[in-house]
Amino acid sequence: MKKKYLPLIIAAGLITFFSACKTETGFKTLIITGQNNHNWKVSSPILKQILDQTGLFSSEIMITPDKGGDMKIFNPDFSKYKLVVIDYNGDSWSEKTNSAFVDYVKNGGGVVIYHAADNSFPAWKEYNEMTGLGGWGDRNQKDGPYIYYKNGQLVTDTSAGNGGSHGKRRAYLVKTRVADHPILRGLPVAWLHGTDELYSQLRGPAKNMQILATAFSDSTLGGGTMRDEPMLMTITYGKGRIFHTVMGHADEGGGPAMQCVGFITTLQRGAEWAVTGEVTQRVPWDFPSAAGVVLRPDFKEMTLEEAFTHIANYDIVKSTKSLSFIQAHLRSLAGDAAGIKKIEEMMVKVLKDKDATVESKKLLLRELSWMGSDYSVPTIKELVSNAELKDEAEFALTRLVSK
Ligand code: ZN
Repeated sequence: MKKKYLPLIIAAGLITFFSACKTETGFKTLIITGQNNHNWKVSSPILKQILDQTGLFSSEIMITPDKGGDMKIFNPDFSKYKLVVIDYNGDSWSEKTNSAFVDYVKNGGGVVIYHAADNSFPAWKEYNEMTGLGGWGDRNQKDGPYIYYKNGQLVTDTSAGNGGSHGKRRAYLVKTRVADHPILRGLPVAWLHGTDELYSQLRGPAKNMQILATAFSDSTLGGGTMRDEPMLMTITYGKGRIFHTVMGHADEGGGPAMQCVGFITTLQRGAEWAVTGEVTQRVPWDFPSAAGVVLRPDFKEMTLEEAFTHIANYDIVKSTKSLSFIQAHLRSLAGDAAGIKKIEEMMVKVLKDKDATVESKKLLLRELSWMGSDYSVPTIKELVSNAELKDEAEFALTRLVSK
């Protein structure tokens, strides 16, 4: 009897081993590019960086043959991947590759459709069912209805006309339509997106599709439809989940459309949802509101260490970004004594730093007055003798000692 169980135990051991590897390296992700009417040499490495820095994904970029090249040699083994990101708008793939991709999605593979990827493959029925909506490529009423919101109502519009347009580039407000969807949960219901094309008049089969967010295409701003156009969508196809973002037109260095924290965050969250159906990522501290665009020129969220380096050089006339970051961090640490202690230690380090500005020390004394502990008291006491900091130091001491 004992022997009989042995292979099972080994099999269980192997499964654990492989799943441990997976969590260490992240979900294996394939970014497909190589042909596009956009600068894919800029966009694809940025997509890879945005995904990989979450720690959830491990991406590789696969480049197809050039336009007019032999597509038979483009034959990825999709089964190796949990997620496929399409940054491609070009020649048809081979029948074999198309059917392998359809099988991958049907069997539960995750997909991200990014920007002009919804222009691609107008004649490939299954692909258009995965994107839900598409534009250009001679798309018209034969390809499905226009889908948009008008006066708060979802409209399925079967009227004749071409699919796909965008007016002059602009920053625009993105509005949440499904606030409790895992991808959007916790995000503001409206936020300003960095200057981008506002895709409009998309049309397609729109089967099993949910519109998560829209933007108003205002014709007075250089071309528009006066409709609320779909910006973020989810589609299911077989067992597969697809996240479709029409945003992120790539300029040199990514430009405001890709550097926008709203674009970055929704892409990261949409990609996770496409793989697992859930989102575990926290909302970043710098997520934009309706009041203004927030860009990350290097695509990364600031770290606590960077915020403290910046704050030591704090200048009242410059940005309060670092202080906001530290404050947001503190709020997120509610109840986490060890985490708060770590920040207190970093604050005291700045207070002791001879090169740190007076303004930075004033700010930190104000913060410490409510969140500090006995640990800060000796350092603050020393600052009482500093004429420039006396008031703030005494104020902090009074609050800390009476705690
Ligand atoms: Zn574009």
